[in-house]
Amino acid sequence: MAQKQTILVTGGTGYIGSHTTVELIEKGYNVVIIDNLSNSDKTVLDGIKKIIGTKPDFYQIDMCEPDAVKKIFEKHKDIKAVIHFAASKAVGESVEKPLKYYENNLISLIYLLKAMSECSINQLVFSSSCTVYGQPEELPVTENAPIQTANSPYGNTKQIAEEIIKDIIVSKAELNAVLLRYFNPIGAHPTAHIGELPNGVPNNLIPFITQTAAGIRKELKIFGDDYETPDGTAIRDYINVVDLAKAHVIAIERLLTSKNDRPLEIFNLGTGKGNSVLEMVKTFERATGISFPYTIVDRREGDIEQVWADTTYANEVLGWKAEIPLEETLISAWTWEKKIRNL
Ligand code: UDP
Repeated sequence: MAQKQTILVTGGTGYIGSHTTVELIEKGYNVVIIDNLSNSDKTVLDGIKKIIGTKPDFYQIDMCEPDAVKKIFEKHKDIKAVIHFAASKAVGESVEKPLKYYENNLISLIYLLKAMSECSINQLVFSSSCTVYGQPEELPVTENAPIQTANSPYGNTKQIAEEIIKDIIVSKAELNAVLLRYFNPIGAHPTAHIGELPNGVPNNLIPFITQTAAGIRKELKIFGDDYETPDGTAIRDYINVVDLAKAHVIAIERLLTSKNDRPLEIFNLGTGKGNSVLEMVKTFERATGISFPYTIVDRREGDIEQVWADTTYANEVLGWKAEIPLEETLISAWTWEKKIRNL
């Protein structure tokens, strides 16, 4: 059997990182995880083991320490590529603590890129976001849509990170990168061994819905029903986290087999379909048979009205398509919530 290739997954105990680790190992890769556990828990490794039978190598490391990543590359000389998830991601917190976000999300990237260059590791998949599009003028939004001024420090770190990676590639360094712009990742692994573990009161819609359905929150507040959308509530493109994870494996395969046409490729990862907040509530209730209270409140500051992905490029070039139906995704989120609450 061919030698297994090793991938460094930063932020690998986090929500998307853990699901991607499972998919990578299932496809025959070795995974080395680094994570500072600032927003995740070591028990995620047990969940991964329950699914695939092995625990990946894990190091609790803060990537803002200058030589931390380099030491990992020196220890694991077989690392061939990096998937970089590690970052702080709470939009609201980033408005209150911008420096934390610029430091944590950008210094870590710079040290990672330096270490990659010094150790001749040239393949990178980077976790970006549809926030770079702001409110697009045309929908569905393609990868060529203009980048808008970010409306939070978090969003700005994703834009700046993309620019840093682009500049390195323009400088004719050896780097090859795939930037993946996620829409709204939701759901949990079908085994319910891993899922989303939000810290404190969730900001995102689905964890708030599942916690309300579980009786932990009194009611869901729907932020605004006066948008220019069919039912007045905001529209997003909600993608199953396992579908999303699979796209990372394809991106890695592409980089490691030199199938990438250019040193920098950018893909939207969404379903290509938009759903309103009310549609999400109704679909959750229909899929799970659980109803919960909700009220309409004012719009949330910084929210855009509607966005969904044009996924043609990812479909054609990566041969990837989101496949899991929304109902199934919402059931997976609910099954996970029940499991972690012992319901
Ligand atoms: N939302 C809501 N109530 C909540 C959380 C979110 O109405 O408690 C709405 C939010 O205004 C947006 C959508 O749900 O229209 C998705 O929000 P989320 O924070 O999950 O993702 P975002 O697209 O903002 O990154």
